[in-house]
Amino acid sequence: MRRYQTEGSRRLHQQTVPYLLDGVGSSFHVSSYRDYPVAMTHGKGSKLYDVDGNEYIDYVLGFGPMLLGYCPPAVDRAVAEQLRRGSHFSAPTEDLKRLSQRLVEIIPSAELVAYQNSGTEVVMYALRLARAYTGKYKIVKFEGQYHGWSDEEKVSIDASCVEELGDRENPRKILHTKGQRLSSAEDLIVLPWNDLPALERTLAARGGEIAAVLMEPCMCDSGPILPKPGYLEGVREVTRKYGVLLIFDEVITGFRLALGGAQAYYGVTPDLSTFAKAIASGYPFGAVVGRREVMACGVPASGTFNGNPIGVAAALATIETLSQPGVYAHLEGLAQQLETGFRALARKYHRPLYLRHVGSIFILYFGFAEDVEDFRDWLTQADLASYTRFVAGCEEYGVRFTDRRGREYLSVAHTQEDIRRTLAVADQVLGEMERGER
Ligand code: PLP
Repeated sequence: MRRYQTEGSRRLHQQTVPYLLDGVGSSFHVSSYRDYPVAMTHGKGSKLYDVDGNEYIDYVLGFGPMLLGYCPPAVDRAVAEQLRRGSHFSAPTEDLKRLSQRLVEIIPSAELVAYQNSGTEVVMYALRLARAYTGKYKIVKFEGQYHGWSDEEKVSIDASCVEELGDRENPRKILHTKGQRLSSAEDLIVLPWNDLPALERTLAARGGEIAAVLMEPCMCDSGPILPKPGYLEGVREVTRKYGVLLIFDEVITGFRLALGGAQAYYGVTPDLSTFAKAIASGYPFGAVVGRREVMACGVPASGTFNGNPIGVAAALATIETLSQPGVYAHLEGLAQQLETGFRALARKYHRPLYLRHVGSIFILYFGFAEDVEDFRDWLTQADLASYTRFVAGCEEYGVRFTDRRGREYLSVAHTQEDIRRTLAVADQVLGEMERGER
């Protein structure tokens, strides 16, 4: 197998650093295992191509949005057509009506829709709606769950060990960057996820001050960690019992687990939910949907680019493509092929290597047990050093996994042949690790 050279990426990074903070467009693009990120020229289907002409089978997929792969023809056509008519009007359009109607048809909790342009924004808006509707201010969130980078959202997600999280019954709130206001965490109550008794105790004691419980219905940012059987149903029941709204953050799970999101997949309907990433195949776009009376409680959905025609065109074409028969069965088949292949490799190399998938989202980890239930288990068991060595090796042979936390994605454009090539590369890299060559 040929090892890729990435000298062009190194050179480009050196040329960019004098002008651009850290030489990257987002801090998530900084590589954790080399001193420059691989720079890309273009993508097509399941593949990305770098500035040195190397081809990668990609499972990062732009951190999730590219559910249809790169340059999906239907989305490209719809966006090109919209561009001919204008990119931005600050006015309603026929397509805006069609998209809103379609979202209400396919998402169980959607009675009304509002738009923003990123995951961070839709969660901010959902929290404001919940506070406005209930007249209460506290929000329950969960350890290890990322909801965006605003002061309030980026709390208790990046602990490096369980001790940092503090006592399970009374977890510490952790701010992650300089400049985050201490007061931003004042209205948050952080709990371990998948622990219904802990949530019920909190709601029973403080339900009178809690506006909403905010959660990923399947924990993806440190996962996928699946909800325990009955957990989501139990959360729905206790939130209703104590007069607290339930918000599902479906920024990752939306359109990936099912067309109607995790709420359709698990059959549990929240009061509000947030969508971004895959909704518009890589165009900045997001939606908050929910119960009519909550959505219409009088909080303006401000924003210059909200409901912009390009995002709307991309979202309509994305949803139309995902509505074709066989799409989700194809994704599930690929995920199972990958999971079976990795199990065989784990046996071959006697390594605690684990792949768990839900829909088209999968996690690949070393040292992970199957009974991981929350962020604390994850922190205790994940062997990040081995994962990073493995991922660095795969990249050198043309398979691109994320270098953080191991959450990966499949696209509709991936093929069985891609999976076969991926497993061959994984075999090669695990062999090198076993021989001490990595
Ligand atoms: N919510 C979840 C569950 C996410 O994973 C993310 C980003 O990864 C966000 C919200 C924030 O989305 P964005 O990066 O588009 O602001």
